[in-house]
Amino acid sequence: MPTLFRPLRLTLYILLIVAGTVLVTSAAMRHAERQAQEDDAQRANQQLALYANSLHTLIERYRALPAVLALDPELRSALDGPVSAQQQDSLNRKLEKINGAAESSTLELLDRTGLAVAASNWRLPSSYVGHNYGFRPYFSQTRSQGAGRFYAVGVTSGIPGYFLSSAVTNDNDEFLGAMVVKLEFPELEREWRQGSDTLLVSDARGIVFIANQPGWRYRLLETLSDTDRAELKATRQYDKQALVPLAHQMIRRFDDNSYLARVDGPQGSAEYLWESLPLSAEGWTLHLLRRPQVTFEDLRNAGLAAAGLWLTLVFLLLFLSQRWRLAKLRQRSREELERLVEERTRDLRTAQDGLVQSAKLAALGQMSAALAHEINQPLTAQRMQLATLRLLLEHGRVDDAYKALKPVDDMLTRMAALTGHLKTFARKSPSGLREQLDLAAVVDQSLQLLDTRVRDEQVDCVVQLTRPAWVRGDAIRLEQVMINLLRNALDAMRDKPLKRLHIQLEADDQLWRLSVADSGGGIAEQDLPNVFDPFFTTKPVGDGLGLGLAVSFAIIHELGGRLNADNQADGAIFTVTLPIDLEAHIQC
Ligand code: ADP
Repeated sequence: MPTLFRPLRLTLYILLIVAGTVLVTSAAMRHAERQAQEDDAQRANQQLALYANSLHTLIERYRALPAVLALDPELRSALDGPVSAQQQDSLNRKLEKINGAAESSTLELLDRTGLAVAASNWRLPSSYVGHNYGFRPYFSQTRSQGAGRFYAVGVTSGIPGYFLSSAVTNDNDEFLGAMVVKLEFPELEREWRQGSDTLLVSDARGIVFIANQPGWRYRLLETLSDTDRAELKATRQYDKQALVPLAHQMIRRFDDNSYLARVDGPQGSAEYLWESLPLSAEGWTLHLLRRPQVTFEDLRNAGLAAAGLWLTLVFLLLFLSQRWRLAKLRQRSREELERLVEERTRDLRTAQDGLVQSAKLAALGQMSAALAHEINQPLTAQRMQLATLRLLLEHGRVDDAYKALKPVDDMLTRMAALTGHLKTFARKSPSGLREQLDLAAVVDQSLQLLDTRVRDEQVDCVVQLTRPAWVRGDAIRLEQVMINLLRNALDAMRDKPLKRLHIQLEADDQLWRLSVADSGGGIAEQDLPNVFDPFFTTKPVGDGLGLGLAVSFAIIHELGGRLNADNQADGAIFTVTLPIDLEAHIQC
């Protein structure tokens, strides 16, 4: 991606990470809230079962009471005919006593028309005695089915309660009346009030008739039909109580009997976990309403944990991808580098071979003048010798003629040696050739090639060579190095009054050290680091190419040695070091 887009990409990354963090955090908080609500709902459900059990136990305790009382002979005989005042008084007292012992709310005895002939509350102004309850559904149920039950607000007392009734019959099983027990639940409501939950009991029509909190009783959980309203009026079940709808709206359902709802309760609108439990025996439903108990800290912790996990994951991924990219980049640059090195080495080798060859040719060119002179001289001499020889032979002086042949022979041998050297010098030798050779012999041959010049220029030559000096290398190339060094030394001393060349070859540790020192005034300090650079020359145009030392340096380096340049007393000193060929010395 171009550099221009980098900040854009970075911004995009940051935005994605931030958006991801927000999403993950809110999802985690929502999940934590939902989980907490579900856990809460489950706990509430278990508690609801306990509440239902206590209500059921309470009712069960009294369920058999009216049936047992209905068997009492006194009650049965009293209902068999008109009840006298004395009988009524005795019955009232009896019911009062039993009611006290059984701890029920009220006991009453109804005759076959539903008229209360006796009641445990006969002493109170709200006494049932003399009132007719024939309109109550429990009475009609008792007459038709033998037993009845009904929750209603007392028309006389105004106190709501659960009426359980049982038929009183004579020996012929004829209906004489009904024995009724009324249960009120003030204690239950008081007990239920201790918790912070709202507990409601609704009837089959969805009318709340038991509530542990004020304001919840007589609320309608469902809409009443006209028939329901007519029936309620006829049975006076909730008498004069106003039935107010309880507005509630489901937010989330957990299961059939458990959901989260917004309820417009007596204390205002609020969210509740709403648990319901049907009480099939009574046809009622028990409800538990609980305010959700998810705290902000819980949600925050869940959010923080999720954000932490998400960010760790993101940074881990970023770190890994960065490492992977770096490794790929490194691998690519390594491959690129290797390719480049190979390419350059190839180029260098070709260039070096080319340089060696052109340097040789340059040297050859420079030497040809000297060689022409070197060959011309003996040729002239030989022509004169041959003339002398002809004369001697004409005069029959055969012995003298033989003697005159000797210098001719010597001169021819020398010329052959010279041309032989030239041939090998110009030849392009394969790089990497490593033959066993004597470095001292190489020095000899090089000196021989330059012998004319040394003599002409009257150079004082001191040669100290350790023999044999075995090395591994290419004789022609080493000779080229030697000639370069010698020629440079002769060039430097050309105009000097004192011309002294000192060549020394000695062993030093595992190396041969061959030095060529001259009295040519040395190399300028600032030029010393550059003398081995290709095409560096201080000689006039046409005289020097600046290749000699560069090529020599490369050749010595290739053979595992070193070539150094330095200044000494009154000139320069070049030192070649080459590894000693120990194998060859052992063989010798
Ligand atoms: P060239 O001889 O063609 O100039 P070289 O590579 O052989 O190229 O030498 C490079 C330069 O190093 C020379 O031009 C000269 O300045 C310097 N040099 C080499 N040998 C000597 C020496 N013995 N004394 C002084 N200067 C030298």
